[in-house]
Amino acid sequence: MHSLPRPLRSYIRDEKLLPIADKVARGERLSFEDGLLLYGTRDLNGVGAMAHHVRLSRHGLKTYFVASRRLSYTNICYTHCQFCAFQAKPGDPRAYVLSAEDIIKDLEKPESAGVRELHMVAGHYPKLKIEYFEDLFRKVKARFPDLHLKVFTMVEMDYYARVSGISMDEFLDRCVAAGLESCPGGGAEIFDEGIREEICIGKKDANVWLKNAELCHSKGVPTNCTMLYGHIEEPRHKVDHLLRLRDLQDRSLKNGKTAFLAYIPLAYQNENNELSRTHVIHETSGGGDLREIAVARLLLDNVPHIKAYWVMISPGMAQVGLSYGADDLDGTIIEEEIAHDAGAQTPQGLTKAELAHLIRAAGFEPLERDNLYRTYEEEMPVGM
Ligand code: SF4
Repeated sequence: MHSLPRPLRSYIRDEKLLPIADKVARGERLSFEDGLLLYGTRDLNGVGAMAHHVRLSRHGLKTYFVASRRLSYTNICYTHCQFCAFQAKPGDPRAYVLSAEDIIKDLEKPESAGVRELHMVAGHYPKLKIEYFEDLFRKVKARFPDLHLKVFTMVEMDYYARVSGISMDEFLDRCVAAGLESCPGGGAEIFDEGIREEICIGKKDANVWLKNAELCHSKGVPTNCTMLYGHIEEPRHKVDHLLRLRDLQDRSLKNGKTAFLAYIPLAYQNENNELSRTHVIHETSGGGDLREIAVARLLLDNVPHIKAYWVMISPGMAQVGLSYGADDLDGTIIEEEIAHDAGAQTPQGLTKAELAHLIRAAGFEPLERDNLYRTYEEEMPVGM
């Protein structure tokens, strides 16, 4: 069992954090007020030490990643999110819709070799109905039976059930029967209603996201969860968001079928979107990114994995995040579009060897995983 070399209290410089450190050392749940203190303190290293303590006790030095391919089946979107640079309206020269055959062709390209997970989220386009998704999932699974299909934000799923004229229950059951296996955690943004009015007017209702995530879990479909930070939100909105996720996770774990696998803090990217033109943005920083990872590890005591999403915060910052509570670098992420359209300067993908190198160089043990965190230790690349 790995642990910090000194007692947890000895890492704390801000005395106000000491009662939280004691709770963390005892494994007690933190409160809303504790969350505000974690966001408000200047003692970022103290917050990081507490998160690292929890990370070490849960995962030791193990650090996960997945060989993953990103595809968005369409960028046409009738929902308007002010933070989004990916959306296109019909007629826009950038607009596209991919067929099942297009997607299979992409997956057959050499750069997709060895990919274990297809991660798809896309725009909200009313011409695509349940039959499109059934056809897509069946054809992809027929060609690549071992490829894990991770598709739809909770809001996206709700949209396509509505335009298909069927219930969410039926939509989900039919997608699962066709090959859907899990869902990524996007679309949550920030649950606070006032902030949603400003940043994603088209997806106002946070309860849709929460209700559908719970429905997925009750049907045995695991999902991830996220939060978009670094725009106009304040700490109280973030603590509220994280605690709503924790409450839902408590219910899902009690239900016993499945639950959130991982939480991913998503840093807002401010290029090419309306939000950064119309609002004063509290841009994120390296310290801010690390704090999001650490606070999530401390507040989300029932979510097993916390990711440092290198696409949005840079590979170097993600490496540091491994000492601030993260145990997962997400993955190779071949051809990410959504964050890059909004200005992310990171590479379009990393190889497995590059990820393994980043993890080892930060002092941790790389483990390639599948979507359900089963590992492939024997195939681990030995480095660069
Ligand atoms: S974030 Fe998704 S739902 Fe919102 S505008 Fe962009 S593509 Fe559409």
